[in-house]
Amino acid sequence: MSTTSVPAFPGFLEEMTVEQVRAFDPEIVVLPLGSTEPHGPHLPLGTDCFQVTRLCHMAVRSANENGARALLYPTLPITNNVNFRHFPFALRVGVRTLMQMLIDIVSQCWDDGIRKVVFVNGHGGNPATLDATLREIAGMDNMPFVCWTWGAWPEGVEYPIEHASDHGGEDETSRMLWIRPDLVRQDRMTNNPFGQLRIPGLLKSAKFVRPWHLYVPESAGGETRASSAEKGQTILANTSTQLSNLLVELSAEPWDERFPYV
Ligand SMILES: [Zn+2]
Repeated sequence: MSTTSVPAFPGFLEEMTVEQVRAFDPEIVVLPLGSTEPHGPHLPLGTDCFQVTRLCHMAVRSANENGARALLYPTLPITNNVNFRHFPFALRVGVRTLMQMLIDIVSQCWDDGIRKVVFVNGHGGNPATLDATLREIAGMDNMPFVCWTWGAWPEGVEYPIEHASDHGGEDETSRMLWIRPDLVRQDRMTNNPFGQLRIPGLLKSAKFVRPWHLYVPESAGGETRASSAEKGQTILANTSTQLSNLLVELSAEPWDERFPYV
C-alpha cells in the first residue's frame, strides 16, 4: 500500500484527515446554512439541509476541479425559525445565538489562516441575521472577508418552475425529487393554500415577520404536482455552476487589507 501520494479530494472537511487538510492548504471556507423544519405533508423536515448540502457539494467539487482551494464545512442544521414556532419540531436558535455562532466560526477561520469565507444560505429565515452578522464582522479586527449567497441563477436561462412558492412548493419539491426521491411522499403532493393578507400592500411597502402557521397553514404552500426531478437537477446544476465560478474567482484573488477592492 502506498502512503506517499496525496489523493485528489473534493475539499469536504468531514471526509478529510488532518494530513489531507494541511496538504490541501485551503484558501477559502464555504459554510452551508440549512434548517430543520416542517415542509408540508410531502417533504422531510431536513429539506433545506439536503438542498444546501447538495448545492455546496456540487459547487465546491467543481470549483476545486477548476483550480480553487475551497474547504467545505459541515452544514449548520439548526438556524433561525421563530416564525415557525406554532408547528412541532421547527428547530431553532435565536437571532443573537446564530449571529454569535457565525462570528465564532469565522473568528476561528482567521486563526486557521483563512481570509475569505462564504456563507451559503439554504433557509429563508436567515437573511436578516446574515446581513446583520456581516455588519457586525465588518466592525471587528482580525476577521476574514465574509459574504453570503443563496447561489445565483445565470442570466438568460429560464427558471424551470411554473408555480412560485417560498416554502415547500414546486421548486423545493423538484429539488428533493432529484436529491432524495426516497424521502418525497408523492402521494401527498397537492396544491397547498397560502394565507391571505388583510392588507395586501403591506408586503410591498414594508417588512414584517410572517407567522408561518397563518401564511402556510399546511407548513408548505403552492401547487406541487408539476414538480419533477429533471427540474430539480436543472436548478441545482445552474445554481451550483454560478456558485462554483464565484468560488474559483474568490479563491484565486490574493487577500490583502484592501480585499476585494483593487
Ligand atoms: Zn425549505
